[in-house]
Amino acid sequence: MSSQNDILFAKAQLHIPGGVNSPVRAFKSVGGNPIFIKKANGAYLYDADDKQYIDYIASWGPMILGHAYEPVINAIQQQATLGTSYGAPTELEINMAALIKSMAPNVDLIRMTSSGTEACMSALRVARGYTGKNKFIKFEGCYHGHADAFLVKGGSGMATLGIETVPGVSEAVANDTLTVAYNDLEAVQHLVALHKNEIAAIIVEPVAGNMGCILPAPGFLEGLRKICDDENIVLIFDEVMTGFRLAKGGAQQLLNINADLVTYGKVIGAGMPVGAFGGKQAIMECVAPLGKVYQAGTLSGNPIAMIAGYTLLNELNTNDDLYTELNAKTVYLKDGLAKVFIDKNIPVTINQLGSMISVHFTNNEVNNFADAAACNNELFKKYFHHMLAQGIYLPPSPFESWFLNNALRYDDLDKTINATATFTA
Ligand SMILES: *Cc1c(COP(=O)(O)O)cnc(C)c1O
Repeated sequence: MSSQNDILFAKAQLHIPGGVNSPVRAFKSVGGNPIFIKKANGAYLYDADDKQYIDYIASWGPMILGHAYEPVINAIQQQATLGTSYGAPTELEINMAALIKSMAPNVDLIRMTSSGTEACMSALRVARGYTGKNKFIKFEGCYHGHADAFLVKGGSGMATLGIETVPGVSEAVANDTLTVAYNDLEAVQHLVALHKNEIAAIIVEPVAGNMGCILPAPGFLEGLRKICDDENIVLIFDEVMTGFRLAKGGAQQLLNINADLVTYGKVIGAGMPVGAFGGKQAIMECVAPLGKVYQAGTLSGNPIAMIAGYTLLNELNTNDDLYTELNAKTVYLKDGLAKVFIDKNIPVTINQLGSMISVHFTNNEVNNFADAAACNNELFKKYFHHMLAQGIYLPPSPFESWFLNNALRYDDLDKTINATATFTA
């Protein structure tokens, strides 16, 4: 009997490039056909064959309290009866902005977008408008959405497909994107000296999640902060993954470092298409209609997206134990997996911070993209399919972080550890 998943994948490819609306979903890096999801609840996904999976993707982050979280669903349903979009401002947007400002440090003004891509693209434009400079620095393996300027050494999706330069991104655009290895402060200093007074911004994932989970080395972010202060460069923290996930105030709060601009996505929309960029008053005042840096969106601040995001963020803001619980669960998983791999003599490095974690098959530390790429990623393929067969849905790429959600119970974590125990390299 053939699987409904395979039937759907065959059909999807007739209509959609590669059968998917975002490349990583296609399982290219792990091989095999993707599964198609019918529904989700709490910590579980259900595919087209009604098979249940313990979910470690959480829609790449947003489902931090689990799928179909009741207060969010209720809020969406109520708002939907009042209309789905107006093209005019609403009080919901004020509430959302005020709530974000109360949670995140260092945000004086904030503008909503409909994706993390838009947020990063806009933040870069604002940084350029504010400084009057064009070039910027990004780090190899960091992903900041698919705007042209960022599609240079762009992390997970591109790495998975082995794409280095993207046809369609003009050389003129790519030339303004300077890249260095993550955690290499000296290389940044060198680039800044080489391009004195030409660099508008440094954009960084404060904890990287698009080459697996990679932590900033001690002093790395502090060093970037100092360079930016000294050289009139705008420091942009891309907190699309880390925002509201690592702490209420994201990585800025957890690591106690302030960026000049910060971008959000994923958790901020509770599963609806939402992004945002915000930061210091003087910089954000450049944004139209206050300033001349044009930025807009027909569906930006969409009422359904706003009520969904607001409801989720409000839950995160009022739940004092949440981040401690999530961290404890993730550490439990990390320790359990580490023990199993050691027992099996499979060399592994597990990176983890808060509810972000990734398993790299290597003897070495994994501190940047080159380290992640040098791991035994063939073994990851095998591990991924072993887990999938047992009803555990890991990110389908060794270059992606796993995201834990708080609907996961210790019983689910034990199942995950036990499933790993039956894996043979
Ligand atoms: C997902 C992601 C983006 C892009 O967000 P989209 O909503 O997919 O456009 C940008 N930056 C980081 C760090 C991300 O993880």
